[in-house]
Amino acid sequence: MGDFELKDEDLAGRIGILETKHSKLETPVFFPVVNPLKSEITIDDIKQLKFKQFITNSYILYKNNVIQNNVHDDLHFDSTIMTDSGAYQILQYGNININNSEIVNYQIKIKPDIAVFLDIPTGNIDNFEDAKKTVEDTIYRGKETLEIIKDEQEIVWVHPIQGGKFLDLLSYSAKAANNTSYKFLALGSPTVIMKEYDYATLIDMIFTVRSNISRGKPLHLFGGGLPQIIPFAVALGVDSFDSASYIIYARDNRYITRTRTYKLDELDYFPCSCPVCSKYSPKELMEMDKDSRIRLLALHNLYKILEEINDTKLAIKENRLFEYLQEKSYSHPAVYSAFRRLLKYAEYLEKYDPRVKGEIKGIFYFDETSFSRPEILRHYRFLDSLQKHNRNAVIICGDNLTVPVINDSKVRRILLKRYSDSDIYVALPFYGLIPAMISESYPLAQFEMPTELSTEVISKTITQISNFIKSKKYDNIEFANCEKSILSHIMSIKP
Ligand SMILES: [Zn+2]
Repeated sequence: MGDFELKDEDLAGRIGILETKHSKLETPVFFPVVNPLKSEITIDDIKQLKFKQFITNSYILYKNNVIQNNVHDDLHFDSTIMTDSGAYQILQYGNININNSEIVNYQIKIKPDIAVFLDIPTGNIDNFEDAKKTVEDTIYRGKETLEIIKDEQEIVWVHPIQGGKFLDLLSYSAKAANNTSYKFLALGSPTVIMKEYDYATLIDMIFTVRSNISRGKPLHLFGGGLPQIIPFAVALGVDSFDSASYIIYARDNRYITRTRTYKLDELDYFPCSCPVCSKYSPKELMEMDKDSRIRLLALHNLYKILEEINDTKLAIKENRLFEYLQEKSYSHPAVYSAFRRLLKYAEYLEKYDPRVKGEIKGIFYFDETSFSRPEILRHYRFLDSLQKHNRNAVIICGDNLTVPVINDSKVRRILLKRYSDSDIYVALPFYGLIPAMISESYPLAQFEMPTELSTEVISKTITQISNFIKSKKYDNIEFANCEKSILSHIMSIKP
């Protein structure tokens, strides 16, 4: 159990299959937190929403003696059940009345598909030494747990990675967890950071952990179930999420959308067509008794999270995750910050982004953030490695030509006339220069870009072209078709 197989990739994100005893889960996957002692959202509701998985807290099960036999029989669910350890309760209420060995043995007894040992959440600890202690204790308990479970093979055991906001601790903790036989790793307790909308820090934390563990091990993000942040975490390589936000928000009359959260009484209309929102108006929900309202709001919130997971998977499948993140980034300044922070890791995203993938789809370029696309990073690397063949170069401005530019009559004329004495390039926004002879190859001709470009895009492109010309030390540069080009300023570049 716990084998993980990759099916598709885009940026550093992936669609995979995680094998558990009761089902093969397609990732990225969301585990709704369900408390069997509360009736707001039941396991039957989870089934009706077609979830093949949920997470519940083994400490709560233990304390209330909920399970007599095993979780699947007693909770009437025949697909994947994950149990958390009670670490979240430590974070909320301080110490709890049970030790790691007890909670691990209890989980062995109740037989979930995925289980977590009792780690020590770093939470929002500000003191480095205190934070370090949570990391060391968690690593120690990870080892202790391996001795308790011995050759138990049916449960996939999760090793949480602690360290909070201290990236060096996270990196240390990630390496230590990666060097164990645990097949499933998790980033612990960013809940406080999520509450403060500090998504940029969350991006740093995810990158630190993901880049220090093996690509073959799936990574879970505890408490990371907000639609705003899911695709960004997935792009870095997070494979699963869990969260109770859908129900906690519902108790507080908060309505989740794919981009933000509203107070129910602020809404005149429901921007959603899920079964709840097509049946009721905001006013009707407000006037309903509290229990029914919480339940319906929670159901709606779950629909939104499911939609986000599916849309993110679709974007991976279609190779347009980068464009999807660009689109999402404008939903909230905090999300925009997360996106900008993610661009800091563009090289990492490029490293895992597949070069060729099935049917070729055109790339959409928008603004200067598009310079961080894997395709552009690779093109610049290619230009760096390019050898010049002639001492002269001809640069044809290509933004007002038909694509592929090689078929344009102007380009053909210049190629025929100058091919023997000059290197011939086409200048295009974002790409900078493209050798005319290869201008048909992917992705140099398969793109769409706006006719109105920002000054940043134009000046970044011109700087790129200028650096290229200087580095290749041409004796002479000629420009063609550039007078009316958006890149006309390149005509002032001297070799
Ligand atoms: Zn809805």
